[in-house]
Amino acid sequence: MQVLTTIDAVRTARAKFDQIGLVPTMGYLHEGHLSLVRRAREECGAVAVSIFVNPTQFSPREDFSRYPRDLERDLRLLEAEGVDLVFTPAPGEMYPEGFGTYVVLPAADEVLEGAARPTHFRGVATVVCKLLNIVQPTRAYFGQKDAQQTVVVRQMVRDLNIPTTIVVASTVREPDGLAMSSRNTYLTSEQRAAAPVIYRALSAAAHSYQAGERDATRLRQQIADLLASEPLVKPEYISLADPMTLLELDTIGARGALISLAARLGSVRLIDNLLLD
Ligand code: AMP
Repeated sequence: MQVLTTIDAVRTARAKFDQIGLVPTMGYLHEGHLSLVRRAREECGAVAVSIFVNPTQFSPREDFSRYPRDLERDLRLLEAEGVDLVFTPAPGEMYPEGFGTYVVLPAADEVLEGAARPTHFRGVATVVCKLLNIVQPTRAYFGQKDAQQTVVVRQMVRDLNIPTTIVVASTVREPDGLAMSSRNTYLTSEQRAAAPVIYRALSAAAHSYQAGERDATRLRQQIADLLASEPLVKPEYISLADPMTLLELDTIGARGALISLAARLGSVRLIDNLLLD
């Protein structure tokens, strides 16, 4: 496994592979990340993983400096998965002095995570675009856990004619349903015990949908009522949206819906979602 910190070294190393899959991450790896690595290996043969806590997708008020990091442990996990290349650039390698071009998807900033985090998707789209240009992967792998990110990346790749196939893999969960996330390590034991209500609430709404409920307001209310049973979990938004446009629905139609929510447990912000189709 080659661990590389410069763009030039990645380009040289990448040239030795015909097909390669890329898994972009911010590190502090868990089974969710590793499921993407395994899928990339199955489908592409060779795998590159980037580990980069991308400063441009954090607002000044967010957790960039305290975001969890453990490069040694991450590298051990990736070595065990048979990863070929790991790219761990310093911020200055990705954003040298004079850097001034961003990829902006204005519609993404109107809804859900974009509305809650105004510069977030500009940072995500910019760094993913750069990583796709640097590694030039055949396929790049993203988790359904970050549903709006998958919509943003797919649109960017389509709009900018980037010749990489985007693959979205299912959310990996803890046995009690909590979606795996590097941010789960911030939770106190009381918050950790309360957090599974998020998945329980999403699942209950999915169950009502399977039983025939199509009224989005009633489904949102059902989720809100269940979340209210855990006072430590404070919802920021509860959404039932069109899975492609991410615009809020009154009634769920033939295209199904993305049910998603963000909630705060103390200062920790968690997101999760389920696709209804
Ligand atoms: P992150 O390191 O949080 O930026 O995540 C890197 C990639 O892993 C993104 O495509 C995420 O959507 C994906 N990912 C994060 N958590 C999970 C999970 N629990 N299941 C599946 N994919 C995940």
